[in-house]
Amino acid sequence: MRKAIYPGSFDPVTYGHLDLLRRASSMVDELVVGVLKNSAKTPLFSVEERVKMLEEVTKDMKNVTVMSFEGMTIDFADKVGAHIMVRGLRAVSDFEYELQIAQTNRIVNPRVDTMFLVTSQEYSYLSSSILKEIARYGGPLDRFAPECVIEKVKAKFSIKENEI
Ligand code: ADP
Repeated sequence: MRKAIYPGSFDPVTYGHLDLLRRASSMVDELVVGVLKNSAKTPLFSVEERVKMLEEVTKDMKNVTVMSFEGMTIDFADKVGAHIMVRGLRAVSDFEYELQIAQTNRIVNPRVDTMFLVTSQEYSYLSSSILKEIARYGGPLDRFAPECVIEKVKAKFSIKENEI
């Protein structure tokens, strides 16, 4: 059985993540989205909120589950019994960092391999940070994430319904 993890911060999940998720989930039997509880970062959403949003937007994907994790991603892969780690590549700038991490992970745990999927052109600009930046200034968010996510972002920034 092919089992993969798709780790990340997902603060919050965007259409870019969802596109990657849909494509990756069609390549494996089971895909576990791993939401990182990173004490070094101050996220907009708590890990519980991020997991909930991901569960909501992936409910039609039958082989996708969502979990939170702490610590090394490679240990999380081991814990759930996955041999594949999915990561997205948006630009050359992603590549250098991702290459280093993937190679390090191979040294730490050669049982897990990283599978890179190149972002769809329409979402190559998109990140959770960009979404939050636009939200901060009250800009339109409908191209970035599903409605249920946008509602939660608006609530965080206390944006009223008619302001966007
Ligand atoms: P991290 O902090 O681990 O980079 P992110 O939530 O930013 O967490 O991203 C999780 C994964 O999703 C990463 O592999 C990232 O490259 C990928 N990703 C993020 N945005 C997009 C996008 N617009 N298109 C494709 N992949 C993306």
